[in-house]
Amino acid sequence: MAFNIAVDGPAGAGKSTVAKLVAQELGYIYVDTGAMYRAMALFFLREGIAPQDEASISAACERITVSLGMEHGEQQVYLNGENVNGLIRTEEVGKMTSDTSIYPKVREKLTQLQREMAAATDLIMDGRDIGTCVLPDAQVKVYLTASVETRGKRRYLELKERGMDCSLEEICNDIQARDEQDKNRKIAPLRQAEDAVLIDSSCLSIEETVAKIQKLVQEKKRS
Ligand code: C5P
Repeated sequence: MAFNIAVDGPAGAGKSTVAKLVAQELGYIYVDTGAMYRAMALFFLREGIAPQDEASISAACERITVSLGMEHGEQQVYLNGENVNGLIRTEEVGKMTSDTSIYPKVREKLTQLQREMAAATDLIMDGRDIGTCVLPDAQVKVYLTASVETRGKRRYLELKERGMDCSLEEICNDIQARDEQDKNRKIAPLRQAEDAVLIDSSCLSIEETVAKIQKLVQEKKRS
């Protein structure tokens, strides 16, 4: 049976940075499920579909294929065969993603794909509903969080580094709005699974957070 690690938490908690490093250390595949939801949202944006138009979004799901691959040691996400990795990290796409990931058709499509991946191989998967919904039997579950200020500052620096123009205040507001929406949606809301270990990374370095997860994996493998 494949060994699965589920990492959930709010926007900007450092899930992908940490999960990528844990994957490298363990030789596991890393799956960024947020990138998959973002790719679908990009499709809806390109089609000019309003986020409230559930019927059109559900119908559009039939025309979308999302897949993952590796290039230059980095996970890439493909939308109908096109590599859209460089196009999905904007705040506009982030907002559309949160608005459209509430719909059953969107979630069903990606949940199924994510479960197939997890059954086939050892992996670490990050998202919002991995421990609670996608992989309820994952051997290790982590809920990674940090204060809004810490998360806002991290995302601000990340966007600046990519040359994007942004304001820290706006980012903190966006993050809070997105968290509220993700926590309060009807299907697969963001919440800590009962058997997940809570890690608050506000005062931890990346290395310390990675080490904590590795320790959980070692303990589980020994038990
Ligand atoms: O992790 P990231 O910020 O890229 O996720 C973008 C959005 O995708 C989240 O705000 C959330 O609405 C949605 N998402 C989700 N379920 C997941 C991963 C992401 O609903 N497993």
